[in-house]
Amino acid sequence: MEQKNKIKNSSGNSNNRLMKKGYFTVITGPCAIESYEQLEACAKIISNLGLLYIRGGAYKPRTSPYSFQGLKEKGLRYLKEIGEKYGLKTVTEVTDTKNVDKIADYADVLQIGTRNMSNFALLAKVGKVASKKNKVVILKRGWASSIKEWLLAVEYITTGGDVEVVLCERGIRTFETSTRFTLDISAVPVIKKLSKLPIIIDPSHAVGQSDLVIPVSRAAVAVGADGILVESHIEPSKALSDGQQQLNEKELIELMKQLKKVAGAIGKKIR
Ligand code: PEP
Ligand code: MN
Repeated sequence: MEQKNKIKNSSGNSNNRLMKKGYFTVITGPCAIESYEQLEACAKIISNLGLLYIRGGAYKPRTSPYSFQGLKEKGLRYLKEIGEKYGLKTVTEVTDTKNVDKIADYADVLQIGTRNMSNFALLAKVGKVASKKNKVVILKRGWASSIKEWLLAVEYITTGGDVEVVLCERGIRTFETSTRFTLDISAVPVIKKLSKLPIIIDPSHAVGQSDLVIPVSRAAVAVGADGILVESHIEPSKALSDGQQQLNEKELIELMKQLKKVAGAIGKKIR
């Protein structure tokens, strides 16, 4: 039997620990963890909004080697401590097979970024560690990867054991230059047709500009995504990475207000 390109992964469950059926889950926080104070201020806002998750990068895969690379283990310590203090589950990126075990000791959810979707050694390692340590994995779509390649990447993770994977569409590269990437919104219904995996949208990296994040997030609810992963910062203009696309507190409150309306129209609740 021809097994080569067969996508097996119609397993999974859109009702896993990270995503809940009937709900639209908002995961937010800064692009990068920059200091204890910065992350704590952000956690206060998130918990006041009644949200459950905080994101923040400690190991940053930057396009330029001269850009801020993250606080690394110190950032992980802040994330764990602040997550526990505010009762928030934590999401952070893994970039290297060498760090996966350590990161899993600090965070609840392991994120694999767009640059690493085809890093098969990393996918396999994350699968093993996530299965052993009972962690959820968010797998972002490679910016030059097809949906089929993305679903096959999931299987590199799930062959390592029983792992809950959430897909994240974060924009692909096209000829269009008015946005940072082009959000493939149709990926959501396509994934829903091909698999049972939950899928969220990252509006921030897709559009790359804060003023476009709210309209695109509204579309994420309407198209049937299970949630969003959206960047927010206490002072975006001072951010050490991705300042132009991060929402400030006021914008985050406005986002929540607008998402509630769209969610209500399709019978979902925001959490
Ligand atoms: C991120 O979420 O911090 C990130 C680096 O995103 P992406 O992998 O989509 O560029
Ligand atoms: Mn970012």
